[in-house]
Amino acid sequence: MRYDFVVIGSGPSGRRAAVQASKFGRSVLVIEKGRRVGGVSVHTGTIPSKTLRETVLNLTGWRERGFYGLGYRVKPDIVAGDLMSRLHKTLEHEVETLDHQFARNRVHVLRGFARFLDPNRIEVQLEAGETRIIEASRIVVAVGTRPLRPAHIPFNGETVVDSDELLELKKVPRSLTVVGAGVIGMEYATIFSALDVRVTLVEPRERFLDFVDQELVDDFVHQLRDRGMGFRMGSKVENIQFENGQPVAILDGGRRVRSEMLLFAAGRVGATDTLDLQHAGLSADDRGRLTVNPTTFQTKIPHIYATGDVIGFPSLASMSMEQGRVAACHACEQPLPATPNFFPYGIYSVPEISTVGMNEEEVRKTGTPYECGIARLRETSRGHIMGLNGGLLKMIFSIETRRLLGVHIVGEGATELVHIGQAVLNLGGTLDYFIDNTFNYPTLAEAYKIAALDAWNRMTPRREPEAEALAVAPKPGSQMPIPPSIAPLRDPEEDEEQD
Ligand SMILES: Cc1cc2nc3c(=O)[nH]c(=O)nc-3n(C[C@H](O)[C@H](O)[C@H](O)COP(=O)(O)OP(=O)(O)OC[C@H]3O[C@@H](n4cnc5c(N)ncnc54)[C@H](O)[C@@H]3O)c2cc1C
Repeated sequence: MRYDFVVIGSGPSGRRAAVQASKFGRSVLVIEKGRRVGGVSVHTGTIPSKTLRETVLNLTGWRERGFYGLGYRVKPDIVAGDLMSRLHKTLEHEVETLDHQFARNRVHVLRGFARFLDPNRIEVQLEAGETRIIEASRIVVAVGTRPLRPAHIPFNGETVVDSDELLELKKVPRSLTVVGAGVIGMEYATIFSALDVRVTLVEPRERFLDFVDQELVDDFVHQLRDRGMGFRMGSKVENIQFENGQPVAILDGGRRVRSEMLLFAAGRVGATDTLDLQHAGLSADDRGRLTVNPTTFQTKIPHIYATGDVIGFPSLASMSMEQGRVAACHACEQPLPATPNFFPYGIYSVPEISTVGMNEEEVRKTGTPYECGIARLRETSRGHIMGLNGGLLKMIFSIETRRLLGVHIVGEGATELVHIGQAVLNLGGTLDYFIDNTFNYPTLAEAYKIAALDAWNRMTPRREPEAEALAVAPKPGSQMPIPPSIAPLRDPEEDEEQD
């Protein structure tokens, strides 16, 4: 069989590459070793973890506790079946949508294990044991990653699990140790903590989520400690023993952490070990990752591309899709879509975190004079209505140009709210966008305005609001002059004193 464009892997990047190439009129085949299409994203990663999160928040009544008290529950005894049923329904729906998308775009799908025979030929081992040889002019390697399973961790699929196995949960544990405070570990640790599971997080480094603004991390940790989550920072798991069938993590330095279940979520490796890359003239690094040209996603063999998690950072479904699309455009000799300067990072912990642009530490390193504006979500009327107690939005602006440099949010709706800041950032917008524009009321998005005014209070105003109100004539139904009422909410001098 011969195809113009062959994709190995049907995750977000493979799918997007395949559909895009097909839209350019190429014959396209996707090879997928899994029973169903969708990749890690649909079956063990993004969608299941987010569905689990949503189920937990709904069944526990988490979002309503600000109003009805910490004892409020929608369903008192939540069992594994409650968590899993929504998961299965969501996944079913996702797979159906993908199957339909492939069929609609005439993308062929072959179920089987792919490995290279040479740079243009791939052998596919089908489930029944037969093999097929596929010839391709262009190939995209979009095989993603799988959990890292070090030899000293006694995985057993029940009490010591990786993030894939966690989704086969048969019983909600009463206590959980999470090893690894990366995004995945943090998401599951906080989801289970919201479920009233006693969670202890073990992390070898002293800091975690170090790409996130430290002020947010501090607020986040405060919220987690407040609800009883334990932290063993700067601690490495030396080995795991079992006492009465329960895993006990033995940490360097001698501390022991006992729990009903242990989730090992300290890293992932590229799924390249069975691809016979050497036959294609390629090799992976010690984490199974491929190196590519960051603009075109070509490997060193120009007609072979690699996209998605297999190329490493940022390992997000959102970015993987874009990489797949860019690779397909290049392979089909089409103009490459413009790459935005900033992409958002979403961490679906409880509470969620989202960030785009530079954090304060990064801005400081550039030497740019800057100012920050902060809003607490509870300061907004929407926050009052929702009974929010925590959450903050922080923006960083250049003092010289007033340009927005970064947006950092922790709290309800963070992963949605961040897109307002992302648009302003990528369009080169300034503080004035937030000051001059009207936001729907009552919304959490109003926090942008509050944070902007907070920053404005401390920055030398570009122009006097009153003078501007006189200068700008109102256009009916469109722009309003800035009323003097938006003058600093607090006395700037008072703020300076506080600083
Ligand atoms: C728990 C968890 C939560 C996550 N949450 C988020 C999130 O909230 N937001 C976000 O943006 N990202 C999230 N991610 C990351 C996201 O899932 C990945 O970025 C995304 O799935 C990567 O897509 P991909 O196309 O590179 O490959 P994958 O989705 O990993 O798919 C690769 C596919 O290739 C197939 N394959 C591998 N080897 C072969 C072979 N030899 N032959 C044939 N087929 C093969 C695999 O079966 C798989 O289906 C999460 C990940 C995890 C694990």
